[in-house]
Amino acid sequence: MSMLVMERDQGEIIAARLAEMLAVAPATVAMTLKRMERDNWIIGTGRKAIHLTETGRQAAFSITRRHMLTEWLLIRILKVPLPMVHDEAHGIEHAISPQLEERMREILDDPKVCPHGNPFPGFESFTSNWIPLVDIPAGEKVIIRRIHEFAEDNPELLEFLINNKILPGSHAKILTILPFNQTIAIEVGGAIITLGFATARYIFAERSERDDLISADQGDSQFSPDL
Ligand SMILES: [Zn+2]
Ligand SMILES: [Zn+2]
Repeated sequence: MSMLVMERDQGEIIAARLAEMLAVAPATVAMTLKRMERDNWIIGTGRKAIHLTETGRQAAFSITRRHMLTEWLLIRILKVPLPMVHDEAHGIEHAISPQLEERMREILDDPKVCPHGNPFPGFESFTSNWIPLVDIPAGEKVIIRRIHEFAEDNPELLEFLINNKILPGSHAKILTILPFNQTIAIEVGGAIITLGFATARYIFAERSERDDLISADQGDSQFSPDL
């Protein structure tokens, strides 16, 4: 899944970056990549840029869809709290048959993004108007829409965002941007939160005219994004 996201966002898969993201030794990644190339999921190992083959891409699409549907199932039906659903879904997604996947899609109203706001494969255009917080000018009012897959994969960061109500559906205002400090300050849920550029790059929002909701208690609105 990280490979799919990396190829989607950066145009190629870089082994060194993969090792860093997954916090495993480069040799372990190299071995996994060799095996994936043998199974015809990827091409280009041993060179700098690695790409998914059509077979690999379809397999990655399929597991990503099951992961995202499982996240919704956990939240909506089993009422599992948001901080837990990404990791729990990893344990379940491999056991879901195509028939079950179809049934989940129907019951869950055919979602186009996961509970963190990341697009289902093939629905990337749903998120294309959402802008990284780091690129929004000070003074703008926004609705948070998406916590990028790379942030979703970082439990400490995800917990920080959730504790501070930086979640899909939350209304926020960009207060200050300090390039020399590499930070932005935003107001959300009545509090002022400082984020580093490195984090703000992975939080996407949509511009909004409403400011009456920025300091309000926003309850659970984030679990039913109006999409
Ligand atoms: Zn996830
Ligand atoms: Zn998700």
